[in-house]
Order: sequence, then structure tokens, then C-alpha cells
Amino acid sequence: MIEPAMIAANSRNFSGGPGALPESVLQQIQQAIAVVPETGLSILGISHRSAWFADVVREAEDNIRTLLGLGSDYHVLFLQGGATQQFAMVPLTLLHNRSAAAEYIHGGYWSGKAIAEASRSGNIKVVWSGANDRFTRLPAAEELQLSPDAPYFHYVSNETVEGLQFRQPMGLDSVPRVCDMSSDFLSRPCEAERFSLIYAHAQKNLGPAGVTVVVVRDSLLQNSPTDLPGFLDYHSHIKAHSNYNTPPVFAIYVVLLVTRWLLHDIGGVAAMAHINQRKAELLYGLLDQSEGFYRGHARPADRSLMNAVFNLATPELEQRFLSEALTAGFHGLAGHRSIGGIRASLYNAVTLAAVEELAQFMTDFRARHA
Ligand SMILES: *Cc1c(COP(=O)(O)O)cnc(C)c1O
Repeated sequence: MIEPAMIAANSRNFSGGPGALPESVLQQIQQAIAVVPETGLSILGISHRSAWFADVVREAEDNIRTLLGLGSDYHVLFLQGGATQQFAMVPLTLLHNRSAAAEYIHGGYWSGKAIAEASRSGNIKVVWSGANDRFTRLPAAEELQLSPDAPYFHYVSNETVEGLQFRQPMGLDSVPRVCDMSSDFLSRPCEAERFSLIYAHAQKNLGPAGVTVVVVRDSLLQNSPTDLPGFLDYHSHIKAHSNYNTPPVFAIYVVLLVTRWLLHDIGGVAAMAHINQRKAELLYGLLDQSEGFYRGHARPADRSLMNAVFNLATPELEQRFLSEALTAGFHGLAGHRSIGGIRASLYNAVTLAAVEELAQFMTDFRARHA
């Protein structure tokens, strides 16, 4: 059994990633590591060629389809290599034999990584960059001048490091829309059918590190190259039902449990978004009412519901905040190593009660140090 103290520590995991998982899922995992009842084996030793695992993949895929409302013209894949591998697989697949530039928004740290990787495979154009504003805001649709001839348009829906999130799909409906949703996948409705390809690694909202979900429209892959290494070819994984080589059985099983939790316990992505909204309002409300003690990084209109990034007056006070927070049992609040400061990540599995406890701690900290 998981001790109550262990549950309390986990429920106060505000890490940017790998993030918190739902308590009920952690309990099922614990059981599954001992034995998965239907199989008599530990999840860590079940064959990826078993009928049981084929069912796991099928159900996880169906659940994601249901949660996103996807039609049968989409494939749902469970791949390895993280979001970083998708930074490369997307241009390798879609820039083949194309001279026109793929268009990218540079909204923050992670889209910068995607752009650097894509530049290695082909012609890329950055249509907007927030670098001069220290990535404190995102563009409005009217600020973008987009080409109808671009092979695809890429952006990151939630900039995890800076805490910036788009409110609606960006880009032209006539150009394939490709999106890194690693840090807000299944946290809100996203009009998935307006995207040609969505990728999201699991370790923020979906499960442990080791598996990346790719949702791709079949027609996007019609002209893809035939000479890619098999592992980097989406077709290999489609044909093999995400079982091209030994897949991360454990990680995929946890994704299945999380999608069941979203469907049956939470009631779907709209219900999840409602809870996430309340969590974020609570935390941002506290920043806004702190008379400058807590200073939000993002402009309010672009604030992320998943990652609240803020500063205190000095780096010393931030260190003090982090160390007192840890003593009080709040984990993972240090900002990303590239920008420092504080980041409270409010992923799906972080409960409203945990955010209320953090808010109380922050109110008390301010009273002690203002
Ligand atoms: C964390 C993160 C990544 C990095 O993903 P890896 O799985 O480590 O390759 C990429 N994109 C976004 C938006 C992220 O939050």
C-alpha cells in the first residue's frame, strides 16, 4: 500500500516535468508492478507481442480518439524519442522535395529547439519571434503574415518554460497545421481536427517519460519519402500498430490508465479544462493581488493554465522561497534552468486542493517576507 504521507508528497509535485500523476493511477501502477491480474505477470515483464498488450494499445488509442473527437482519417501512434525526435521527424517527412519554407512561430524555449532541429533538414522561416520581448507574450493571429504555399506551419501550443499558452489554433486552415502539445495535451478541448499532426510526449500530462503520442492525419503522409530509416518513418509505426520494435510497454500502459482516468473519473477534456481553469485562476489571482511581491512573467492575456512562471524581487528571495517551499513539502517549483525564477506547473493530475495549499503557503511566505 502507498502510505498517506507518500500520497501527500506526490500530490504536491509542481514539477515542470516529469509531472504529477493521479493518485488512483499510481495505486494501479503499484499493483501492476507486482502483477497485472489478467496476465499473472508483472507489467515490467509482459511481452510486447502478447494479445494483452495489443489490447492495451488499442484501448489507449481509442480513448485518445474519444477524448479528442478524432475521425478514422487519423492515426494515433505511441513512439519513442520524446518531443525532440518529433522536432526532426516532422521536417524529415514533410520537407522532402519541397523548396518552399515551412513556417514556424518562435514563441519560447521549446519552439526555439524545434526550429534549430528543423533547420538541419530543410528550409525554415520564422514568422514571428518573441525573443526581443524575453518571451513574455505570444502573437495575435493578425500579427502573422503566413504563406498559403508553406509545406506546413508549426508552433508550440504551450510554452512550458515561459508559461505562455495560445488560446486557439493558429495558422491558416489551408496549410497543414503541426503542433507540439507536449505540455497541454488533453488539458482542454483543442479542435484536434484542425491539425494535421499533433505530438505530445507523455511526461507532462499523460504518463511517465518514454512514450510520445503522435496524432497524424493519413493524407499528410501521402508524399512522404520512402528512403528514411525505418524507425524515423511514420509508416513503419502505423503498419506495426506502434509495435515496430520493442515499445515501452510500461509507459504505454500508464498512458492507458491516465486516459481512463480522464474519461471516467474526470469526465473528458472539457471537464478537465474547467478544473484547470480554476487552479490557474487561484494562482494568478494571488500573484495579481500581491502588490508586486510575486511578479508574473507572461502578459496576462497569454498566461498558461499549465505553467505559472513568476519572479520575486531578488534571486536571494527566490532561493529562500524555494527552500522554504521544499521544507513545507512543495516539490519542483524551481524555474527552468534557462530562465530561473519560480514555476508552478499545474498539470492535469495536480489537484485543486494542492493548489489551494500552495496558495496558502505563498500568502504566508509573503506575510513573513514582504
Ligand atoms: C518538455 C518539452 C519538450 C521536450 O521533450 P522531450 O520529450 O524531452 O524531448 C518539448 N516540447 C515541449 C513543449 C516541452 O514542454
